[in-house]
Amino acid sequence: MTVDVLIIGGGIIGLACAAESAKRGYSTILIERHESFGQEASSRNSEVIHSGIYYVPGSLKARLCLAGNTTMYAECERLGVWYRRCGKFIVAVTPDEVPDLEKIYQRGIENGVQGLEVLTGEQVKKLEPHIRCSSAIYVPSTGIVDSHELMKAYLHEARSHGADIVFGVRFSEVISAQHGFTLCMQEASGEKVEMQTRFVINAAGLFADKVAQAFGIDIDQAGYRIHPNRGHYCRVSLAKSRFISHLIYPIPHPQLVSVGIHIGIDRAGQCRLGPDAEYMDGSIPETEWYKFDPDESGRREKFYRAGVRYFPSLELEDLSPDQVGIRPKLQGPNDPIRDFVIAEESAHGLPGLVNLIGIESPGLTCACEIAKEVFNKMVRG
Ligand SMILES: Cc1cc2nc3c(=O)[nH]c(=O)nc-3n(C[C@H](O)[C@H](O)[C@H](O)COP(=O)(O)OP(=O)(O)OC[C@H]3O[C@@H](n4cnc5c(N)ncnc54)[C@H](O)[C@@H]3O)c2cc1C
Repeated sequence: MTVDVLIIGGGIIGLACAAESAKRGYSTILIERHESFGQEASSRNSEVIHSGIYYVPGSLKARLCLAGNTTMYAECERLGVWYRRCGKFIVAVTPDEVPDLEKIYQRGIENGVQGLEVLTGEQVKKLEPHIRCSSAIYVPSTGIVDSHELMKAYLHEARSHGADIVFGVRFSEVISAQHGFTLCMQEASGEKVEMQTRFVINAAGLFADKVAQAFGIDIDQAGYRIHPNRGHYCRVSLAKSRFISHLIYPIPHPQLVSVGIHIGIDRAGQCRLGPDAEYMDGSIPETEWYKFDPDESGRREKFYRAGVRYFPSLELEDLSPDQVGIRPKLQGPNDPIRDFVIAEESAHGLPGLVNLIGIESPGLTCACEIAKEVFNKMVRG
């Protein structure tokens, strides 16, 4: 089989790339190892359309998130995908957190985020009567999206423009990288299939470093090694979910390992508290990755302590275990902040290969912009 573009990975990024590729007239195939799309990070996140307030000015995350925020709302309208521009508060719970809040505000202004307002605790109380804080940033451009609907829409769009989306097939090795690529794929039955392609897009999420390695790239030298970082969520009782109408975020981790245990809302109005952030060592088998911690009550207690600081009506009994997601972080424990890697690999002697590595948050918000960036780089080579 020979195609123009082969995409490895059927999460939101691979699917957005497949739609972009097929619309540009390339013959396109996307392969996904699971039996359906979006079984990993893309269905295990907060579903937030981020504003771009947090990221280092000039970084890909800042640029693509700012653009992605606007594009995402437009894409949802175009594709008929559910979204709600609910807005969010980033709260300084105590006065000693206010200087950190001010730094976030300044960064947001520098990044060009529109509509930011600093509010007193009293002003916040009028809009969110159950939230207690010293002051807060109101971010009106933040919203939520139904990520499953979005992925389904990109899948249909890709197929309607002729792309092949194949499930239960895993990329296993590179047979040749001379004049395009010959790759070996393995079906669930164990049967091996060879495919020839001119371009490869590596959108393999948590495994994107391993895929890059299979092309002969030294991932430590290139800075591509992924450090998986797990985040649990707790569901908030429906009774208490009704108290909240905006997303509520605390001050983020100083090195942005995470944006903090926040209150998210889904399309049914159900609130979730999370995610926490823990680097995983290699000892946890893949079959256990997405299981909520066996020390469930200890973890619920931790979530309760994090949430009750700014949501005092919360009680421990309001929380129950929910989903688990894993961030494909390039930033290891104690490392400085890292950006997304979107690399056309001519420099590694692999023209036509685009590696997407470390596509953690705000990757969902940026999906459409990342797809455009990939094709701009691919075409330029
Ligand atoms: C806890 C958490 C919260 C988040 N919250 C937000 C948020 O609120 N807003 C936001 O914008 N972003 C958020 N994100 C980030 C966002 O979810 C990701 O950036 C995005 O989902 C990445 O999509 P992806 O397609 O790159 O990866 P994935 O969804 O992980 O998809 C990669 C796919 O590649 C497949 N694959 C891997 N290896 C192979 C192989 N060898 N052969 C075939 N297929 C393979 C996998 O099976 C998988 O389906 C969050 C992430 C996490 C973990």
